[in-house]
Amino acid sequence: MQLNTHGKLALAEKALMRIIVTGGAGFIGSAVVRHLIENTECVVANLDKLTYAGNLESLADVKDSSRYSFYQVDICDSAALDAVFAEFKPSAVMHLAAESHVDRSIDGPAEFIQTNIVGTYNLLEATRRYWNALADDEKRGFRFHHISTDEVYGDLEGTDDLFTESTSYAPSSPYSASKASSDHLVRAWQRTYGLPVLLTNCSNNYGPYHFPEKLIPHVILNALAGKPLPVYGDGSQIRDWLYVEDHARALVEVVSKGAVGETYNIGGHNEKRNLEVVQTICELLDELVPQATKRSYKELITFVKDRPGHDLRYAIDASKIERELGWTPLETFDSGLRKTVHWYLDNKDWWQRVLSGDYRLGRLGGTL
Ligand code: NAD
Repeated sequence: MQLNTHGKLALAEKALMRIIVTGGAGFIGSAVVRHLIENTECVVANLDKLTYAGNLESLADVKDSSRYSFYQVDICDSAALDAVFAEFKPSAVMHLAAESHVDRSIDGPAEFIQTNIVGTYNLLEATRRYWNALADDEKRGFRFHHISTDEVYGDLEGTDDLFTESTSYAPSSPYSASKASSDHLVRAWQRTYGLPVLLTNCSNNYGPYHFPEKLIPHVILNALAGKPLPVYGDGSQIRDWLYVEDHARALVEVVSKGAVGETYNIGGHNEKRNLEVVQTICELLDELVPQATKRSYKELITFVKDRPGHDLRYAIDASKIERELGWTPLETFDSGLRKTVHWYLDNKDWWQRVLSGDYRLGRLGGTL
């Protein structure tokens, strides 16, 4: 692969990329895989353990492409990683595999330490073994792109503050602490071994194929079932929401054009209080699927005890990726949320199989 004068991959070279996407059966990973297959000429290997969060049914649109393959592999398994690298011969790794749900990290942090820290370490070492053996020009063109979260920065107190790429790390939960650790490992592998890495830290994502345990799909599905809509504390926590397909597009821009060693913050300029998010979903459902009683879904909102260490506000300054790589989100929160609600109304089969557990049937090592 050739580098242009700025040390970036020339655009024409994108076509030649062979990318391992770890966590490609998850919410964001599957959006990245669909985007790569549908909008680029890249060859993609989806490497995923298929935990409860992995769902191959999210890849139905691309699974038959000759440019797509799937490996059921745990990133903690070094020998299996070596075998995939030797067989697939990637020119880039996009690392999304992780335990990702904050509430689960509070109930049981062990799996988060194992996958997010030990797993990332294993993947870095497998990548380094493979990368060391490449010819010089392939070595220079290789990329390891680590996908992380804005939660590593902790929370913001001032209403005007924003997370930038130089904000100090101050994680609050076992999830964000494990992601912060993995970010440090990735940067150290560049400083110490010269591995060509890129990092991105992104705000909260939402959109199609989102696992129903997360806020937005949870509220949509509970409302449709006439169940209570739980809101933590008084619902005043502020998150900066990004439509998942905008995130997938940003990630592909970064892996193909980003400067080695750089970090890019990715956000949607959509700061919303959790209560406002829930109320907007209710208003959309009132319009699209009004209840027979004509009562608003908002009557289902119930306030529940806040979770420990709950950060109050996250907000991203995404000006670097906009300035340097020309990426901007295409969806506003209103347009993205409307698309998302429509998607859940139109794809009952996908989420009903998740809720029933049927999406795990028939997979290797899968259990109900
Ligand atoms: P997800 O939980 O939906 O998917 C994670 C995927 O990783 C699943 O397919 C799972 O099977 C796989 N996986 C888990 N452990 C594994 C292991 N040991 N080996 C191989 N595969 C394994 O997560 P997501 O929401 O798609 O997030 C993807 C990445 O993006 C994560 O690294 C997360 O920290 C980061 N991120 C998420 C958000 C968000 O709002 N969801 C925001 C910013 C960053």
